[in-house]
Amino acid sequence: MSYAAFYRRSIEAPEAFWAEQAKLIDWQIPPRQILDESRPPFVQWFAGGTTNLCHNAVDRHLAQRADQPALIAVSTETGTERTYSFRELHGEVQRVAAGLAALGVGKGDRVLIYMPMIPEAAFTMLACARLGAIHCVVFGGFASVSLASRIEDATPKVVVSADAGSRGGKVIAYKPLLDEAIRLSTHKPGAVLLFDRGLAPMGLVEGRDHLAAPFLEKHRDARVPCTWLDATDISYTIYTSGTTGRPKGVQRDVGGYAVALAASMKHIFDGRAGETYFSTSDIGWVVGHSYIVYGPLIAGMATLMYEGLPTQGLNRQPDGGIWWQLVEKYQVTVMFSAPTAVRVLKKQDPALLKKYDLSSLRALFLAGEPLDEPTARWISDGLGVPIIDNYWQTESGWPILTVANGVERTPSRFGSPGIPMYGYKVKILHESTGEELKGANEKGVVVIEGPTPPGFMQTVWKDDERFVNTYWKSVPGKLVYSTFDWGIRDEDGYYYILGRTDDVINVAGHRLGTREIEESISGHAKVAEVAVVGVADALKGQVAMAFVVPRDGAVLGDAQAALALEGEVMKQVADQLGALARPSRVHFVGVLPKTRSGKLLRRAIQAVCEGRDPGDLTTIEDPAALRQIRQLLGVQE
Ligand code: ATP
Ligand code: MG
Repeated sequence: MSYAAFYRRSIEAPEAFWAEQAKLIDWQIPPRQILDESRPPFVQWFAGGTTNLCHNAVDRHLAQRADQPALIAVSTETGTERTYSFRELHGEVQRVAAGLAALGVGKGDRVLIYMPMIPEAAFTMLACARLGAIHCVVFGGFASVSLASRIEDATPKVVVSADAGSRGGKVIAYKPLLDEAIRLSTHKPGAVLLFDRGLAPMGLVEGRDHLAAPFLEKHRDARVPCTWLDATDISYTIYTSGTTGRPKGVQRDVGGYAVALAASMKHIFDGRAGETYFSTSDIGWVVGHSYIVYGPLIAGMATLMYEGLPTQGLNRQPDGGIWWQLVEKYQVTVMFSAPTAVRVLKKQDPALLKKYDLSSLRALFLAGEPLDEPTARWISDGLGVPIIDNYWQTESGWPILTVANGVERTPSRFGSPGIPMYGYKVKILHESTGEELKGANEKGVVVIEGPTPPGFMQTVWKDDERFVNTYWKSVPGKLVYSTFDWGIRDEDGYYYILGRTDDVINVAGHRLGTREIEESISGHAKVAEVAVVGVADALKGQVAMAFVVPRDGAVLGDAQAALALEGEVMKQVADQLGALARPSRVHFVGVLPKTRSGKLLRRAIQAVCEGRDPGDLTTIEDPAALRQIRQLLGVQE
């Protein structure tokens, strides 16, 4: 079938389409009603059906592939590598499930998971799914304040954590951060289960804290059956990255999510049972939920879980080829990463890409932020496989825009994440009139018309009102879901994301997307990374200001070279986009402020430039990056 026909059917006959997709997973009781949209914008998929995510990810495969690899855990931080078969994974998950049950966890209870990228984190997620408990995974890189706000919001019965994480060889003790977070939160979890990796000492709180090894030993050979859940029950909550403000607690269902992932593994990722999937994300992000843990396992694939930097070998020495070495060793067929990681690798010797046999690899998927053309070309030339940009959000749970090579081979276009995926009615609307922009290359807000497809968020956790008001009421007179991203569609239906709706600047009455200016600057050969923000200006309203990480670090300490490069960058923008878009200043920095998920924190840079308080910085990767900008601009902390 052509993709166009496949897509059309998903929109015109959603019930028939998704009833078909629902057959990709196991049901205890098949769904009674495929789609219930009687209370928009809320949608219920597969009502009356009962199933379980853990059953579909693990138990279901025991009959055919019990001894095939299911989880491959590689840590270049501890220099460890271990493979679990589906049978072993089944055992590990039941042990943790039995332990959680012994701590009183049952259906609907929340379990907050604050863990590094170790296999036990995946066991715990699957154990929650098995019991029908709602997991809330908090990225292990967050500190006490971010963690406390999530404990407060999720009110978990149990917290599962570990002694420490490690990043580039630097051990980060989690236990003190967790203790402090629990102290800050008014909600106190009844129990804390702690995996001890032997990286940092842990003080235990009597009666509350349990060391996992002795505690779970009692449940060594436990048999814990899957709890059959309604398709519409809650599987988990997860927070958005907090790039634009206070993170939102995204809530997801069970049945719709399982079907959405199974379908995406087949139609989009084209991953096949028995093969290996390698996503370099983290379980703390939605990509980690969908495409490290659940998606590949539901598809019967082995999933490679990686702890460490992309530039560090198993011997803990610098090695920019480690990911490619793993692709060769584990015969990875599908890989998923982010542009930010590729930009890191781009600074490495390109010969590293040629050192390994990468013939198993069929495609590299990249998501999370705009994929600029130079980065896309660099990795595309290096790997010689399709580089597939895909656009989505924590809210959607799976790609909104990309190409579905499992349905029909469709070429990707540099700069475009692709075309709408089946089930998604994607439209471009005029920002103020709400009118649909149907013409080619007309810029507007990217929105999704309901009913949203399976896998899409059900609501904001505990806050239906925030869900409706935040996402569905931003376009006047219309109940549509706003992505809060700008976009255009070309004459062939390919979409281009032009940045976030709050990343637009107004120079002397002209509206410019900071993203377009960044694209122009990143095309300069001497530029490694760039962020452009709009800064208030008495004369012009706003002016563009650029912060550039030069490819050659020497520019940072050489005023002459910096001045010359600033001139070149300004000229390039003026030549390509016009004089209005030319940044008023180009500042050179060693590192840009990003969220822990690798996204540019333009909102924080802009605040600093305007001498305002940058607001919630709990999700920032490196506070020193903002400090450097403050110093450059001579503004006070
Ligand atoms: P918050 O909503 O809390 O501000 P966030 O939007 O960064 O945080 P995520 O859900 O992790 O949280 O990110 C989704 C956003 O990332 C998209 O709305 C879009 O702006 C950007 N994005 C993701 N993938 C792509 C892509 N392939 N191309 C361009 N932008 C992308
Ligand atoms: Mg967002």
